[in-house]
Amino acid sequence: MRIDIVSVFPEYFDVLNLSLFGKAQAKGLLEVHTHNLRDWTHDVHHSVDDTPVGGGAGMVMKPVVWSECLDELLGADLREPDTADEPDTSDTSDTGGEPDTADESAEPTEAPEITETAAKRPVLIFPNPSAPLFTQRDATELSHADRLLFGCGRYEGYDARIPEYYRTRGVDVREYSIGDYVLNGGEVATSVMLEAITRLIPGFMGNAESIVEESYTGDNALLEHRQYTKPAEWRGIRVPDVLLSGDHGKVDRFRRDEALTRTNEIRPDLIEALDCRKLDKADRKT
Ligand code: SAM
Repeated sequence: MRIDIVSVFPEYFDVLNLSLFGKAQAKGLLEVHTHNLRDWTHDVHHSVDDTPVGGGAGMVMKPVVWSECLDELLGADLREPDTADEPDTSDTSDTGGEPDTADESAEPTEAPEITETAAKRPVLIFPNPSAPLFTQRDATELSHADRLLFGCGRYEGYDARIPEYYRTRGVDVREYSIGDYVLNGGEVATSVMLEAITRLIPGFMGNAESIVEESYTGDNALLEHRQYTKPAEWRGIRVPDVLLSGDHGKVDRFRRDEALTRTNEIRPDLIEALDCRKLDKADRKT
């Protein structure tokens, strides 16, 4: 996967050479390029921001600087502006050329499975606190992409026409918030998303098993059960006896029950989102 990051503080990303992320680059799994947005300015002050149209506090990142940068980085992946919005009518194989007359009263279908073909064109991601929340599902989908570009905002954010424009040029543009709070810039948010995405790339983690049974992961995403290591008793607190029993069936059931109970207490919204058809009888008792 190739990753481009545009920021006015590209030094923030020096830490990407550490730990598993650094090893993944050394192994050739990831290729990371950081860019200073100011390299695409032409004035003596290298200014990337201007006052908000309509008034108000702070400064807004200028579209002209971002577009020079993104035009260069996206280059050949940009579609012609006048054709990008036209619907793709090339594949009429299953309708015999007739318009798609799907029955609108039909039950909505389930969300499609995430496949490796999900995101083969470049994905341009703008961290933004007023955007939809970035979730494990997004991380899983984006871990299949060949190329990600992150545009880190600063000040009051970036001109809203930037993502709008690149959508018209055929780019898969996403805006994501990493939580209901406001950071100074998109660098930390980019790091958070990058870590969540890249650890799901096959070969990134030393032990691939460790990402299979985690919080927010799988069909019926729950918070994970609590974890313990040795010694069995520490400062008067024992690990639950069942975990020492050696009975794998009982251990699995205990962990599943704990995941359900904790999720219900801490994140009842996740319980409401569960697909009841995928629960077993013992789950229902919990
Ligand atoms: N005026 C914006 C608002 O109230 O929504 C806040 C702008 S913030 C100070 C500057 C930049 O930090 C944003 O453009 C975005 O790139 C990044 N940022 C801040 N909080 C974020 C969050 N929760 N999630 C993702 N990005 C965030």
